[in-house]
Amino acid sequence: MSKRDFYDILGIAKNASAEEIKKAYRKLAIKYHPDKNPDDKAAEEKFKEAAEAYEVLSNPEKKQRYDQYGHAGVGGAAGGGGYGGGGMNMEDIFSQFGDIFGGGGGSPFDSFFGGGGQSRSSGRRVTKGTNLRIKVKLTLEEIANGSEKKIKVNKQVTCKTCDGSGAKDKSSVSTCSTCGGSGAVRRVTNTILGQMQTTATCPTCHGNGQQITAKCGACHGDGIVRGEETININIPAGVSDGMQLSMAGKGNAAANGGVPGDLIILIEELPHETLKREGNNIVYDLHLSIIDAALGISAEVPTIDGKAKIKIDAGTQSGKLLRLKGKGIPEINSYHRGDEIIHVNIWTPKVLNSEERTMLEKLRESPNFKPQPGKHDKSFFDKMKEYFE
Ligand SMILES: [Zn+2]
Ligand SMILES: [Zn+2]
Repeated sequence: MSKRDFYDILGIAKNASAEEIKKAYRKLAIKYHPDKNPDDKAAEEKFKEAAEAYEVLSNPEKKQRYDQYGHAGVGGAAGGGGYGGGGMNMEDIFSQFGDIFGGGGGSPFDSFFGGGGQSRSSGRRVTKGTNLRIKVKLTLEEIANGSEKKIKVNKQVTCKTCDGSGAKDKSSVSTCSTCGGSGAVRRVTNTILGQMQTTATCPTCHGNGQQITAKCGACHGDGIVRGEETININIPAGVSDGMQLSMAGKGNAAANGGVPGDLIILIEELPHETLKREGNNIVYDLHLSIIDAALGISAEVPTIDGKAKIKIDAGTQSGKLLRLKGKGIPEINSYHRGDEIIHVNIWTPKVLNSEERTMLEKLRESPNFKPQPGKHDKSFFDKMKEYFE
């Protein structure tokens, strides 16, 4: 079998920039990644092929030799098997990913494959389940007081039949013969700096040290199945629309006994019938008749914890702002609480009967009914500014 041209493999032009090479490879790596194409030999070959091409083209020195001499220039005998006779192994390929996906050995796949990422220490490898996202709608009262929600989520759960092992029974699990159960293999590699011994994840058992000879029938050896779980979510007071909370380990279970992903909770705030939220303050529009404003009254206003009475002084002007201290939203993770601000609106009657008209006509000429805005009557905007600063 003759080797394909590396540029053709990545689908790029000979003069492609380093960034274009990286991008092209990233695309193929995602497309043909074995986690996404289980038991697909052709995809695995393509995955390895792309990795090999990237390995050369991403290295300026190798790229130059390849451009000049072709496959012969970069170690592989022309038309032969490539590197060290067997092509790159998976460990080599995964070691490229820190660079390609920008992760420092963390789990670069989380964002690309929606999970199945691997956090890898020396040898044993732990798979991580995918994160699960849900939306929670909250009323203003729930936001003000904090709430506990019981939510049923559909997700990957540990297979009960095999307890997550993926094996049919205890006797169908044996110690991995490749690594002797350690999950790691030693390799000697030739580098520019000479021979180097490195420890790599065992390719046979993928680091868990065990081999399964007969798979569990319920989960087909994955150790996880589709299921549901009722989760208690404690939402602290003071959250706001668009905020995300995360519960570690409450996401999808991972295959082969790995650690579960996280549950990400997106907060959605439901509009309130009469109250409006402004940061941690609550704003309420109170409408008063001219009579009540002129004579004064005890008015009832809604708050997030029920009704409250407020005293309206005689001679209250439209646009006045009154403050109910501490009747707002608590600041998240703090003892501080916002206020409720009552915005006074004077309501003018739109329809009058003849009797009302006569009474008002009489008052029209009264000097006290002539507007006399004084220095102390700040404009509405000045007052708003004062309250929200
Ligand atoms: Zn099972
Ligand atoms: Zn092994």
